[in-house]
Amino acid sequence: MNTTHTARKRFGQHWLQSEKALAQIVNAAALQPTDRVLEIGPGTGILTRRLLPLAQSVVCVEIDRDLCKLLVKQFGQAENFLLLQGDILSLSLPELLSQYPAFQNPNKVVANIPYNITGPILELLLGTIAHPNPQPYESIVLLMQKEVAERLTANPGSKAFGALSVRVQYLADCTWIADVPAKAFQPPPKVDSAVVRLAPRSIDPAATDPRKLDTLVKLGFATKRKMLRNNLKSVVDRDKLTELLESMQLNSQVRAEDLSVENWVMLSNSFSDDLSDMKVNSEAIEEETHARSSE
Ligand code: SAH
Repeated sequence: MNTTHTARKRFGQHWLQSEKALAQIVNAAALQPTDRVLEIGPGTGILTRRLLPLAQSVVCVEIDRDLCKLLVKQFGQAENFLLLQGDILSLSLPELLSQYPAFQNPNKVVANIPYNITGPILELLLGTIAHPNPQPYESIVLLMQKEVAERLTANPGSKAFGALSVRVQYLADCTWIADVPAKAFQPPPKVDSAVVRLAPRSIDPAATDPRKLDTLVKLGFATKRKMLRNNLKSVVDRDKLTELLESMQLNSQVRAEDLSVENWVMLSNSFSDDLSDMKVNSEAIEEETHARSSE
């Protein structure tokens, strides 16, 4: 089956071959017969075939027309299978699914995604700190580039803990499921991979002004290896910051990566100033996930 379609680099096509990895992905999704699944980039359908018998319905979004033809041949007869041809980042899923009641409001996502658009996919599925997805998925199981998986699951104080970690961990609990080596794919990507499960969570206390938190995180991580107080000096008085940090049992010389998500929220909630018109670098998610992409 895989020989009938040559992998296209521009679509990030790497076919998963490993039974072990497929089982790890499917097990992590813990599918119930009532689950409505969204799969992004089904490719040749190797994962789709395992999802269909376990879920109530599976809606797949695939950009490559030639693959869509193969998928229809393979699964067209299955009543719980729906294929939408298009770019996951530009089609309007809720609108399209309104024509297919059995596939509406998928509650789980299971996918081996194209790595070159990991950041935008995470944002599409979770939303952002300032605009969380109002209808969060119950769980999202993704096979992704290992470096990104490390960021999503990093603990504060570790090297991998960056702006992306705060942004995603604010919205979701991220669990490392399994390592997947490059040789598990055909053709093998240049990077190793990992399976991660994301489950939406709400932080307590929540950010009173999520836009402010968003801005603060961008500023805080703007220059790596600098002390937080230097990165934030344009928006907060040094003594005030020291006082806030001390109230969280942190010393005044901490760096951005030393603060937990809860620390960031507390910091943001303690600011009275409006940071919303600060000039900051846009789209940290995109930058961080793109930086070492395989393509
Ligand atoms: N799930 C398959 C394929 C993974 S490769 C497997 O595990 O073997 C990534 C898949 O995403 C490819 O099929 C590619 O064509 C598709 N894809 C790439 N960009 C896409 C986009 N913007 N929207 C939807 N699908 C996309």
